[in-house]
This record gives sequence, C-alpha cells and structure tokens, in this order.
Amino acid sequence: MHDFDHLLWQISHHNVCIYKDEDGWYLLVNTTCRHLLPGGACGIYEERPNICRQHSNDYCEYDAPAEEGFKKFFDSYETLLAYCRKRFKKWDKRFKKA
Ligand code: SF4
Repeated sequence: MHDFDHLLWQISHHNVCIYKDEDGWYLLVNTTCRHLLPGGACGIYEERPNICRQHSNDYCEYDAPAEEGFKKFFDSYETLLAYCRKRFKKWDKRFKKA
C-alpha cells in the first residue's frame, strides 16, 4: 500500500500520469524537457541523464496511443485512488491506528 500512496502523491502533480506495463509501474510526464532546444536538439547532450541515453526510438507514442500498450493507465488522482480502494480493502483505514 505504501508504494501506491507514493504514486498518489506523484499523480497529484500537473501533467503526470501513471502506467503499468510488463516491466512494472512507471511515471509518465506529459511535458517537454526544459533542455530541449527549439531545433529539437538536446541542450545538455554531453551530460544528459542515463535514461535519455538508453531511450530507444523504436517505438514512439506518436505512432500509436501509448495507452494501448499499457496493462494499466491512470491519468488522474481520482482514477488511481479508485483503483487503490478496489485493490486494497483496508485502503481508507491505512492511517488509522489499530
Ligand atoms: S535527451 Fe534528455 S535531457 Fe536532452 S532534451 Fe531529451 S529528455 Fe531532455
């Protein structure tokens, strides 16, 4: 339950979605990177984070909606909260002392 409590905090931020695929749960940040230059180049290319270095262009979300490949997809706090309540019977009692 603790992990989902954290996911709820993450999805409380603007332009953030949560999804699950065959590799696990992930955060989807729907905004442009602050280092993206007007021409499409990376402004910090030489020291770009590892996740950027590992990113493959084999599949692009513009080719098909990414949601189609997700096992689960949440685009709001409310939809994720509903999932948590359904998955964990004691969800609404998690902060109450026994
Ligand atoms: S390569 Fe990474 S750091 Fe550079 S613009 Fe793209 S997302 Fe941003």
